[in-house]
Amino acid sequence: MTAAGLFAVLPTLGWILGLRRWYTKVCCFLFGHTVDNRAFAAAGGGTRICRCGTPFLAENGSLTRISHTPSCFLFGHSYVPMGDRSGHNEYVCTRCGHPLLFELQSDPYGQARSFQKKVRYLCNLFGHRVHEVGDRGPLQEYACGCGHSFLRAIKGARLIQHPLVCLWRGHYVRFVEQRNGYSEYVCANCGHTFCFTTQRAFSDQPSAFSHSPPVEG
Ligand SMILES: [Zn+2]
Ligand SMILES: [Zn+2]
Ligand SMILES: [Zn+2]
Ligand SMILES: [Zn+2]
Repeated sequence: MTAAGLFAVLPTLGWILGLRRWYTKVCCFLFGHTVDNRAFAAAGGGTRICRCGTPFLAENGSLTRISHTPSCFLFGHSYVPMGDRSGHNEYVCTRCGHPLLFELQSDPYGQARSFQKKVRYLCNLFGHRVHEVGDRGPLQEYACGCGHSFLRAIKGARLIQHPLVCLWRGHYVRFVEQRNGYSEYVCANCGHTFCFTTQRAFSDQPSAFSHSPPVEG
């Protein structure tokens, strides 16, 4: 392409990029900011910037509204091990940051290097039958047999349901703590937690993105 041709195309390119940025901002306004652990890993830590250009997920106690990740809900999460604590193995989704907690003696994945797992849709409809994992400061941590965990202020819960406000509006999350190379956040409305990498955790784990077919349950 000649220099004259390049100068002729540049305004069009700028217009397309501007339109794309505007579309992304509207989506974030309507549904919440997009989270993706692969993007956070590629950025290698520091201040997190949403694809709409907004700094988000600050670790100062402020709330960030994040959207759901439809591909994870429909096709399953892609998990890698995150560590073990309180008698449970912990895993985290390499896309949406969804954690999983399984008791050591009944963990069906046994610290597998990576695996795909679908959401247990019956739990989403009728609630998670949870057991206590342990105290986390002022909050109580719970986990369901499906692996879904929650941080709630209430003690002695046995059944935890997803409130409709989170279904329609996404999750309003605030920072909890850093551990094992991740920053953990909790939704102020439902207690759902999310873990986002603080380092290039996935750069040497290509198999984390393509592995066994997803299993429901
Ligand atoms: Zn955004
Ligand atoms: Zn996910
Ligand atoms: Zn469940
Ligand atoms: Zn929520």
